[in-house]
Amino acid sequence: MPILLRVDRALQLLAEPMDTCERCGGYAKHQVLVSVHKIRLFFVPINLVGSTIYLDRCTRCSRVNMLPKAQAESVLAHSLT
Ligand SMILES: [Zn+2]
Repeated sequence: MPILLRVDRALQLLAEPMDTCERCGGYAKHQVLVSVHKIRLFFVPINLVGSTIYLDRCTRCSRVNMLPKAQAESVLAHSLT
């Protein structure tokens, strides 16, 4: 009997604040992204602990860093005000 297992990765843009990049030194737009892995077993979604990752991407040099959840939420809160 085949097991139907599907893994999807969704990448969503949360905010685009302007900031100075520690790699290229330029003042450029940064993208705060959230990456969520979703697993479906026989079409039933399964939520995994720790499957959500927050990323910060510099649009000037394409440097990508992982962000702690609290820092990503802080950036999002400041971009909405
Ligand atoms: Zn950069």
